[in-house]
Amino acid sequence: MGAVVWINGRLARGDEAVVSVFDHGFLYGEGVYETLRTYAGDPFLFARHVRRLRRSAEMMTLPVPFSDTELLGRVRETIEAHDRPKAEGPRPKDDGEKYIRVVLTRGVGELSYRLDACPAPTLVVIVKALEAPPDESFSDGVTVALVDVRRNHPQALNPMIKSNNLLNVALAMQEAYRRGAEEALMRNHAGEIVECSQANFFLVRGGRAMTPPLSAGLLPGITREFVLELASDLGIPASESRLLPEDLASADEAFLTGTTREVTPIVRVDDRPIGAGRPGPITKRLQAAYRERTSVSSG
Ligand code: PMP
Repeated sequence: MGAVVWINGRLARGDEAVVSVFDHGFLYGEGVYETLRTYAGDPFLFARHVRRLRRSAEMMTLPVPFSDTELLGRVRETIEAHDRPKAEGPRPKDDGEKYIRVVLTRGVGELSYRLDACPAPTLVVIVKALEAPPDESFSDGVTVALVDVRRNHPQALNPMIKSNNLLNVALAMQEAYRRGAEEALMRNHAGEIVECSQANFFLVRGGRAMTPPLSAGLLPGITREFVLELASDLGIPASESRLLPEDLASADEAFLTGTTREVTPIVRVDDRPIGAGRPGPITKRLQAAYRERTSVSSG
């Protein structure tokens, strides 16, 4: 697997990294996580990711027993361990950038939903070589499927919690793969477009970039927030607006945002092209600005 994993204070090779079957992350999907990546070896927008991890944890009454600095130390320790030459020979070639997943679960305990059943949370930090999406997905764009599986209702399982409970995503992605798409565009219970299964969604019309509001029931993406700030810096009108499937037909451009996908153009939704069916000018400007910011700053 080529990963190095920090588990509750111990470093392990990916193929030796295990947690107990009595961990409530495994039994009940009770846990939260963050996916980060490095640029020039530095975890990008680390502070924003930890802030979101804390918010997610708070929404499920999960203690976060470490400071931001302590977590950063653990992430760096794991990155360093991943960088160390391995005894078994040379590492596969990569550009040195890392994929980082921080997972915090309720921990190990009796089969009970009582909060005092688990004395301490489990913290896992997974570091592996970043496998960036292919260049063509950035230059030519991707196809998404508007799936039938709806985003979880906020009053059932709030999508603002970035939780380990990913069955909603798995079902949406199964449908997307069946339809030959690489991402699933999802609606909420009211039929409004909210986000992709693992990324946020933007539509451009008449020069304005629009993305659904958090109140529609979606994950507050760090890249979404960053791209809204970039749009403001670039003087591109941008807003949080309710979007319906009908809006796709009149869109000039669309794109998705996410930590590893950055700004990825969407050129088709199922068999319908978006706009001219190729990445548009506003998407490209935001993409270029994002690349520029990630090459000069780690936020
Ligand atoms: N929405 C969902 C459901 C996601 O899983 C992700 C990926 N974490 C995103 C949006 C994008 O979030 P971010 O920009 O923080 O990676």
